[in-house]
Amino acid sequence: MGFTDKHLLGIEPLSPAAISEILDLAESYVDLNRRPNKHSDVLAGLTQINMFFENSTRTQASFELAGKRLGADVMNMAMQASSIKKGETLIDTALTLNAMHPDLLVVRHPQSGAVDLLAQKVNCSVLNAGDGRHEHPTQALLDALTIRRAKGRLHRLSIAICGDIAHSRVARSNIILLDKMENRIRLIGPPTLMPSGIAEFGCEVYEDMQQGLQDVDVVMMLRLQRERMDGGFIPSEREYYHRYGLDADKLQAAKEDAIVMHPGPMNRGVEIDGDIADDINRSVIQDQVEMGVAVRMAAMDLLARNGQASAAEGMS
Ligand code: ASP
Repeated sequence: MGFTDKHLLGIEPLSPAAISEILDLAESYVDLNRRPNKHSDVLAGLTQINMFFENSTRTQASFELAGKRLGADVMNMAMQASSIKKGETLIDTALTLNAMHPDLLVVRHPQSGAVDLLAQKVNCSVLNAGDGRHEHPTQALLDALTIRRAKGRLHRLSIAICGDIAHSRVARSNIILLDKMENRIRLIGPPTLMPSGIAEFGCEVYEDMQQGLQDVDVVMMLRLQRERMDGGFIPSEREYYHRYGLDADKLQAAKEDAIVMHPGPMNRGVEIDGDIADDINRSVIQDQVEMGVAVRMAAMDLLARNGQASAAEGMS
């Protein structure tokens, strides 16, 4: 069974076949996006509303571009300035928007679970663009596409996810996806930044970068999510960089052809050395951004098809 769901709320409910279907379709959008004329009309006539309750630069831009390239009418709601500030609940905002008949809602929210809740209240498809520390499905999918293209496969790879795992929805969605595709996952970071119950995910956990990075194919770095920390999780940024920042020295432990990833925004000199981030022989950070647009186009294309299929079923 491929991807037949009405919403894309997380990686958790997806089968490996559904993940592959999204990635395969995204490949065709990578090609389209490299042409001078990047326009398609698969979402023509449909309305996409982006609701970002948390700051975002790249993700919002990526979704906006994805929708526009597919011919949708795209509207960005300035949620910071919205009625939520005047006391309206999330559900009331959702119901108001629902009455305007959107076809796709792209939602980012600081609270885990808020996007699922919203999806239960509206008629259209909902796409989770990141909810608290819960999930960020399109990030994991774009990371998967980047890995698949760089390594030629998406299984039986040794992948290290490093840094602030505890507060990261990117780490969570990636762990779920990479595990479904049968990879070996290593988590590296200080114990204060490891989520409790991590053993359940079947990952190997390391406190030491050199040990954890030994012979891995992929090194995925994460930002320190300061906005989700409510205390002293690390001694100092300097000390953190010394122990966990990815530099040429630490990277030597990984395979010679290991790739370096980062979801952005990146803090150079905190979790990653600027030279490594810019090294075109190792870093695929710009590819991740490119894959992001293609994966979001694929996800929205499939959601629109699924929505139309279920509407047709409802009529018959
Ligand atoms: N952009 C990613 C997210 O929204 C990663 C990060 O913010 O560090 O979760």
